[in-house]
Order: sequence, then structure tokens, then C-alpha cells
Amino acid sequence: TVYYYRDRFIESGREVVPVEERAFNYGDGIYEVVRFEAGHGVGLTEHLERLRNSAEAIRLRLPHPLEKIREIVVEAASRVGAGAVDVYFQISRGEAPRSHAFPDAEPVLALFARPGKTYTDEFRRAGVGAITVPDERWANCWIKSLNLLPNVLAKQAAVEAGAYEAVFVRDGFVTEASASNVFGLHGDVFYTAPAEREILNGITRRFVIAAIRDLGYTLKEERMSAAFFEQEVEAAFVTSTTMDMMPLNSVNRRKLPPPPADSPLWAVLNRMRELSRSGVAV
Ligand code: PMP
Repeated sequence: TVYYYRDRFIESGREVVPVEERAFNYGDGIYEVVRFEAGHGVGLTEHLERLRNSAEAIRLRLPHPLEKIREIVVEAASRVGAGAVDVYFQISRGEAPRSHAFPDAEPVLALFARPGKTYTDEFRRAGVGAITVPDERWANCWIKSLNLLPNVLAKQAAVEAGAYEAVFVRDGFVTEASASNVFGLHGDVFYTAPAEREILNGITRRFVIAAIRDLGYTLKEERMSAAFFEQEVEAAFVTSTTMDMMPLNSVNRRKLPPPPADSPLWAVLNRMRELSRSGVAV
């Protein structure tokens, strides 16, 4: 694992954070995770733009111009190697005596990079299980904030239920999952929640939407009711930087059969991979 803190690459990721660092005390900051494949940062420009938007949303000044952050991220990935690499980077409002209002402090970049987990086609065909949980998060889930306590609790509930992901339901509708976006498939029609304030507009989600449109399938960018998602979808999957598209094999107690070889889901998966590797803007 490669580590970076404040202004340099460091030997160890332990014992570097001041006790009064605002990421640590308040979760006062934002983050991104980027997957590199063969040296290419998948959607790197989009991740950096989202970082800038998150920073503006919480009135956080970035410690460096975006181009400099890009260079550090690329350098970290290349130090790990040329295979699949995940780079996690966060910006906090910095180190200052604890007091809620904004401090007079320098924002701090912290980063780690390590080999990314990849999944076999066989694993993907088998899929993973999901449960639904109430979405008790705040109104600005579009900001990629360090505050992830509800997500942590939801994911833990999934693990304890023998599942992999927890799908949030707000006012009777599916928003997204604890660490991914959610899609449903019914016939040849894909469904996913619109990118409004209550979900994070995933970069993988955007590549998947581009692939769906590219292949001529219908996308309904509208919220699925929990009843529709739990009982009627023929297939469902979650999307994220580290998993790309992962089919669900169950939702609560309902089993979802593996999508057949000619399912639009696999066509979209393949097209999404091509698009995301091509560097096309989403
Ligand atoms: N929603 C949430 C809550 C997430 O944590 C993530 C992954 N960080 C996503 C969606 C997927 O976003 P992306 O495809 O950009 O990784």
C-alpha cells in the first residue's frame, strides 16, 4: 500500500493523523475512490470534477489545483503497479483546536493506493445478495462526504443478514445502496433513481447509463418503488468503482435467478467496460 499525507508520500499509514484533525473529529471532508486499469484512471476526470463539486458544496478549499491532485493520484497508482489499483483520497478541513465553525487551517489531502479487488465472470454470474433498509441519511447524499455512519450501519446489517449490500428505501422508493447505485431490469427496460440530491451520482452509474443508451435499450431514470424492486424486477444490479456492475441474486427473501446469457444486463456490462476504458466523457 502506498500512503500520502498532507504534502508527501509516507512509509506507513499509521500514526500520522493529528488527534485534532477535522476528518477525524467531525468527518469534515470529502473523498473519492478511483480504479486504475493498466495505468488508466477510469473516469478520473469525472471523479476529480465530482471532488471539486463536493468541495464547493461544503465550502471547502482544495489544498491544490485539481491538476496537481490528479498528478498525485496518478503517481500513487503508478507506484502500486500497472494492474488493477484503487486510489482512495480525501480532503479534510485540516488540523485545528476542536471547535465546530470553520477553522483557520490548511485543508489536508490524505491518500492510500493499493491493488484493487477484481471479480471473475463466474462470481458475477452467481451474483450477490441484498437487503433493503430504511434510508435514514441526510438530504445531501449527492455530496461525497466523509460522514458514512448510516452507510456503515446499513452495510453491517447486510453482512449480519448474510447479504452483501444494503439498498436504501426512502419514502417507499429505492434511492441507492450503502456503497453503490442500484438498477432494476424489467423486460428490456432499465430503471435507476435520478441523480438528485438524495443519491450520489456514481461515475460507474454514468458509464452504465451511457451503455444502456448506446445499445438502444430504454432507461427510466425514475425511482423504483420498494414493492417493484422487491417483487417485480427480473434482474437487479449495483454499480460502483470497485465492483463495476454486480448482479443481485436475492433481494430480502426473494431469489433472483442468474440473468440468462442473452440478458440485456450482460450486453450493458460489456459495453460499459468498453466505454469506461475508452476514456469517453460521462
Ligand atoms: N453511492 C454511494 C453511497 C457510494 O458510496 C458509491 C461508491 N463510493 C456509489 C454510489 C458509486 O459511486 P461510483 O460509481 O462513483 O464509485
